[in-house]
Amino acid sequence: MGLDYREVGLKVGLEIHRQLDTRTKLFCDCPTDPKPTGRTIEFMRRLREAQSELGEVDPAARFEMRRARTIVYRADLGSVCLVEMDEEPPHELNGEALRAALTFAAMVGARPVDEIHVMRKIVIDGSNTTGFQRTCVVAVGGSVTVGGKVVPIQTITIEEDAARLVEQRDGTVVYDLSRLGIPLIEVSTAPVIEEPREAYEVALAIGRLLRATGKVKRGIGTVRQDLNVSIAGSGLVEVKGVQELEDLPKVIDYEVRRLLHLERIRDELRSRGVRPEAVRSERVRDLTHLFASSRSRLISGALSKGWRVMGVRLPGFAGLLGGGDVRFGKELSDYARAWAGVQGILHSDELPGYGITQDEVSAVRRELGCGDGDAFVLVTGPEQKCIEALEAVLERSSVATEAIPDETRGARPDGTTQYLRPRPGSARMYPETDVPPVRVSRELLEEIARSLPRPLEELAGELSRKYGLSRQLAWELIDGELVEDFLSLVGTGVAPSFVASLLTEVTKDLRRQGVRVENVKTDAIRRYLELVAEGRTAKESARDVLVYLAGNPGSSVEEALESLRLLAPPLEEVERTVDELVREMLPRLGGRDPFGPIMGELMKRYRGRVDGAVLSRLLRERLSRV
Ligand SMILES: [Zn+2]
Repeated sequence: MGLDYREVGLKVGLEIHRQLDTRTKLFCDCPTDPKPTGRTIEFMRRLREAQSELGEVDPAARFEMRRARTIVYRADLGSVCLVEMDEEPPHELNGEALRAALTFAAMVGARPVDEIHVMRKIVIDGSNTTGFQRTCVVAVGGSVTVGGKVVPIQTITIEEDAARLVEQRDGTVVYDLSRLGIPLIEVSTAPVIEEPREAYEVALAIGRLLRATGKVKRGIGTVRQDLNVSIAGSGLVEVKGVQELEDLPKVIDYEVRRLLHLERIRDELRSRGVRPEAVRSERVRDLTHLFASSRSRLISGALSKGWRVMGVRLPGFAGLLGGGDVRFGKELSDYARAWAGVQGILHSDELPGYGITQDEVSAVRRELGCGDGDAFVLVTGPEQKCIEALEAVLERSSVATEAIPDETRGARPDGTTQYLRPRPGSARMYPETDVPPVRVSRELLEEIARSLPRPLEELAGELSRKYGLSRQLAWELIDGELVEDFLSLVGTGVAPSFVASLLTEVTKDLRRQGVRVENVKTDAIRRYLELVAEGRTAKESARDVLVYLAGNPGSSVEEALESLRLLAPPLEEVERTVDELVREMLPRLGGRDPFGPIMGELMKRYRGRVDGAVLSRLLRERLSRV
């Protein structure tokens, strides 16, 4: 069923982050595109108690502190210096990054600030060695126009990229530092987007402007979209890390359905008269003794490790935990996982199940004092973890009776989202005293205004004029960041529209079918096109050749053609066949035009090996001599 997003009061704001393609990092001289030296460092930190200078502990900080952890940092020495290791103060702000951000600001009509002040934004997950991320506002205001609607831009910021999470296991997190400090530009829009599809259009428009600056990195991992989403009456939900533009509408739609579901649950709990205090006053109980002879492998597996089975009653929650792809049970499970690191929960709406019998369920209900209207939640794990998990479950459940909480969530590859942590409070920023403020001079702004990059619309126009490409094909090359590849391949002498569709439509289609096209190097495509131009194979062989090369990354194009039997036979052989067919078929065709039938026969023999145009030319020559 289609949702009426306007009716539910959907409001979305976008934060688009993109790595800048500067020579060095934002606050040191390390390269943003390092060559590995093979020499690495590794060091360890305990997560330190982060408190803002105002003395109050941020909710997001409190969350991370509950999960005391050891953090391991690794890096190749070619990509880091003492600044990333937090052993040396930051150097001055990278002028190349500043210039790129000011250029973008000029393109969207934003007002640059007079003086850039670098701030520290508390980040407690360990992804910054300092415990904060350096960030600075470069410009405010401006707008992009999408489909006739003006979408205001709130801020244009440059900041340091964080270290890359490598792995996470019991109490230890490992980060790679090479990405730390690469400049990011962050563009935030006002929360005026009212439809999921509109978010895609706006992100696309901003992405095109950013690319037009010629100063952004390309490829996987260089772009991240964060969203803030709300509907009328809900809290603000921040969704982090949507990588693919195409996923934006899906993620927003999921969030809207999730928020609506939480609204229904809140209203139902209210009508049942469930009070938040009643939920909060529930006690966590040890139920291990009820499962001593359980047949459930999940339970017996946990008990064999010496773990406990513990549970709580959720008064008035019967029937509200299960459901479709958005379930309150999943919310509880996410909280338990995030706050206590347990695997997940079991709840009464899904039991009996997982090998847990009706008798065991009845025993649990008796022990917890559950009435017909009550639900319960079970967890397995070490005692302390169980208690923390179930306390998180109780807290989340008590909030559910009143409000839809502000949260930071993470985007998952399937378009759903998952709870990460509470939304940080406002006490998160304070000045970075190690970096002096930078004045934005009139001269710099005038120089930037004089040399603004040309908009990509002009490039699209030029591609379609010069190479006879359709507008759509031209934009696909631009949005797929394939213009450089296209220009380097178009000289092979094959029709430009064929080259363009090979890079865009054909590749995309094969990728959808699960072919690992990324294994095929541009050089291989060039060699293939040269062979097509020389008449050694026909254009029709393209798909088969790409599939072969994707599956056999070491092979040459010639090997692919040979093993697929798609190499053209020598021209003399083709000419001989044309002669034979004409001699054979002409008498049998009576007075009819012989071209069609004979051409059909030729295609049958040579499709994918000899270009149709070559066959047609040979046949016409031969027929004209008859
Ligand atoms: Zn460095």
